[in-house]
Amino acid sequence: MSPNNYNSKMEALHELQKEMEEDKDLPLKNANLVFGEGNPNSEILFIGEAPGFYEDLQKRPFVGRSGQLLNAMIESLGWKREDIYITNIVKRRPPDNRDPLPEEIASYSPYLMRQVEIINPLIIATLGRFSMNFFMPTGKISRDQGKIFWLGDRLIMPLYHPAAALRSTTVKDDLKKSFVRLPIIKKKYEEFLKEKKSGNNKETSNEVEESVPKEQALF
Ligand code: URA
Repeated sequence: MSPNNYNSKMEALHELQKEMEEDKDLPLKNANLVFGEGNPNSEILFIGEAPGFYEDLQKRPFVGRSGQLLNAMIESLGWKREDIYITNIVKRRPPDNRDPLPEEIASYSPYLMRQVEIINPLIIATLGRFSMNFFMPTGKISRDQGKIFWLGDRLIMPLYHPAAALRSTTVKDDLKKSFVRLPIIKKKYEEFLKEKKSGNNKETSNEVEESVPKEQALF
């Protein structure tokens, strides 16, 4: 990615953030806006549910206990948090950390969609069922976590929320197992796109299909 692309994406994100700050109709106005952070050129975009206490305080996503686990998982892949982009579907903290309401999700959704378009990631990794159901309304987290689905011309991998992993060793183990697949899927998808660009994607497409179990691969 050229530095220009980086700068223009940063500029577009700042504009979007400003628009959100000025939008009087957005709910949860008593809380701080936690817009999201990271490298706008990241090929992976992590999307959580909504900010919690520490996120509201610091105006940064995933900085509490869930964030520490997310950081550890990102680092276990040899990646750095600052190279990835992280955000939430709802960008202000619901009172007492209650679940976001459908109308809150709906109000924040046009902004999330524009944020996704600007970052333009190859893979969206959703964290928790709210984020998964935003993109996949009929998805079931225990059934679909760790699997790969098409989302337009991107891929989506639903993952358990790190907070759930902090409450259950089984969930944590499953989250870890799914996490380690991310770089593999990313590499395969990049190869697939490269081949597709060179007009030679039939073989690669088969290769990808054969190397990932059918029920987990929609490409
Ligand atoms: N949980 C989320 O879903 N998002 C955060 O930013 C923090 C905790």
